[in-house]
Amino acid sequence: HSAGDEVGRLVETFNEMLAELEIAYQSLDDSNQRLRQFLADCSHELRAPLARIRSTVDVLTRLDEPNTDDAAFRSRALADVAADTDRMARMVRQLLILARADAGATIERRPVRLADVIDAAYRQAGRMANGVTLRPPDADGLADAIVLGDADHLEQAVLILLDNAFKYTPPPGQVLVRARCEDSQARIDITDTGLGVPPEDRNKIFDRFYRGRNAGAATGTGLGLAIAAWIATQHGGTIELLNTPGDGSTFSLRLPLTEAG
Ligand code: ADP
Repeated sequence: HSAGDEVGRLVETFNEMLAELEIAYQSLDDSNQRLRQFLADCSHELRAPLARIRSTVDVLTRLDEPNTDDAAFRSRALADVAADTDRMARMVRQLLILARADAGATIERRPVRLADVIDAAYRQAGRMANGVTLRPPDADGLADAIVLGDADHLEQAVLILLDNAFKYTPPPGQVLVRARCEDSQARIDITDTGLGVPPEDRNKIFDRFYRGRNAGAATGTGLGLAIAAWIATQHGGTIELLNTPGDGSTFSLRLPLTEAG
């Protein structure tokens, strides 16, 4: 069977699953208002890219003549599908991390070279830059700093901060990652020239589901910073929003170094 059929079936299964969850959650009382809102947000966040993938795949399966216009269209359409699937995968990964955290999971820790984590996050983040410039990371001050932790989780935390920096920075803005060792800690600062966080939101943005007044039309669920903070805590570290006079934000991730680092 064709890719179109497969996507069609996936969309149907998905919609049925979400509809059932919605019914289940609707019966929750008012104290679970946030949970209900969360489900509605997740549902929207996952449905929108899936619907786009479906219609693109439908169109692609109908293109069969090998003409040049079609070839150009095809590569653009496939890039869109790739971006949408990446987004859905990221969101599902975030939901899994939270579910595991709630079930009391801890992170397995082994020596990780932080410069490699930053490199990996930088390479992934390059694709999110829509009219916003990501400057090459300045990580010389890290040298071979080692933390005890889980490389995938650490990369996830840095990516969440980078993703936010992009989301809340209108073009033509800049995003910069700066990392160095300070005392017995590694410190990774992600700075943007964007909207900044209003003072009344500063204490709430790390809460699950909380979306700031500045979030506007930016897509999201309010889960990112909660997950990033959980990852930092699991490593004995912290994430802090630094006071930034003027425009933009700096989020600072600090992690204890190992003896060797
Ligand atoms: P989401 O981005 O999905 O809303 P997060 O938990 O990642 O969820 O962030 C929570 C809120 O913090 C956002 O809704 C936004 O208001 C604010 N925020 C996060 N990062 C930034 C940033 N770099 N600049 C301005 N505001 C930010």
